[in-house]
Amino acid sequence: MAYDENNIFAKILRDEIPCKKVYEDDFALAFHDINPQAPVHVLVIPKGPYVSMADFTAHAPDDLVAGFMRAVGKTAEELGLAEDGYRTLANAGENAHQEVPHLHIHIFGGKPLGPMLVGHALGGEGPGGY
Ligand code: 5GP
Repeated sequence: MAYDENNIFAKILRDEIPCKKVYEDDFALAFHDINPQAPVHVLVIPKGPYVSMADFTAHAPDDLVAGFMRAVGKTAEELGLAEDGYRTLANAGENAHQEVPHLHIHIFGGKPLGPMLVGHALGGEGPGGY
């Protein structure tokens, strides 16, 4: 899939629309999800035009790949999630219900999240969801 320069996260990166920033460095921006699915729900995005994890790892320069992954860890640390634990997740494509076509890693935390992919992956009721 070609990168859409007008996707919502590209606009956030260009400061065209606001976000509730948690962490930023040369490689990544982290901000609160507008529709949180857990007490803490933050998105970390790389500073570059990549649709998905496959696109990013195939085409991004090594310093950006490393810097982005470090930023995910630092963001979780800064949110105070490291001790009690948290979940990271990245949707890619239709089967995963990726809504925004700019790579993003979700960080969920702030409560026991339940077992992964059993019923609701965030510890809620019923099938589906994240
Ligand atoms: P996806 O389904 O693509 O993995 O997740 C996209 C996420 O982006 C959703 O959790 C959604 O709530 C969030 N989101 C969509 N638009 C905005 C926005 O304008 N600002 C913020 N902060 N989050 C957004």
